[in-house]
Amino acid sequence: MKSYTLVRGDMSSIVLFGPPGAGKGTQATAIMEKTGLPQVSTGDMLRSALSKGTKLGLEAKGYMEAGDLVPDRLILSLIEERLKEEDAKNGVLFDGFPRTILQAESLAKITKVSMVISIEVPDDNIVERIVGRRMDSETGEIYHIKFKPAPSDISDRLIQRKDDTEETVRSRLNAYHSQTAPLADYYSNLGVLEKVNGDRNIIDVTNSILELLV
Ligand code: AMP
Repeated sequence: MKSYTLVRGDMSSIVLFGPPGAGKGTQATAIMEKTGLPQVSTGDMLRSALSKGTKLGLEAKGYMEAGDLVPDRLILSLIEERLKEEDAKNGVLFDGFPRTILQAESLAKITKVSMVISIEVPDDNIVERIVGRRMDSETGEIYHIKFKPAPSDISDRLIQRKDDTEETVRSRLNAYHSQTAPLADYYSNLGVLEKVNGDRNIIDVTNSILELLV
């Protein structure tokens, strides 16, 4: 088992990898607490750009709603800007990025990736995980109607992502298998891939991940 050491002043990042609905966003919180790395979620950045109505957000909208990947050039421009920020100087925790080989190769030119944590969940479970997902619109906390029910007093704040429908999930899974899954081999060849069984309760998955980050 490899260990992860954050080298100050030397940018070194972690990638959270896995299919949609694997629990990347949920697990990101514990990793951020342990490493101090800020989370950089391209999905969150795109949704924020979309809600602000920026040019980039509007360009990304159709792809996101169809469950397709947003073109690399848009994603890479978002990432390039984000990594210029002060809090990113020692590296970041990528969530949902990179998703194509081109993104990974471009990332390699900007920052060292010291570990890729691949959260593995069988396809059969993905639809139930995504369709039942809800978000607290005030805090951004993610719940699930069955696996992580929200407290009843915040039920009126819960929203469902527009692309969390069964039909869109199928497209997102297709995009994952054809364009993103090959990255597992790419990072395995670089010797930085760590697989974690994501088909367990949230705390067990967190504990396995934290063991990697000693
Ligand atoms: P996520 O929140 O990570 O599930 O991302 C939601 C949607 O945003 C995806 O289905 C894609 O349309 C788009 N997206 C997010 N990150 C990327 C990325 N790295 N490359 C291409 N598209 C992305």
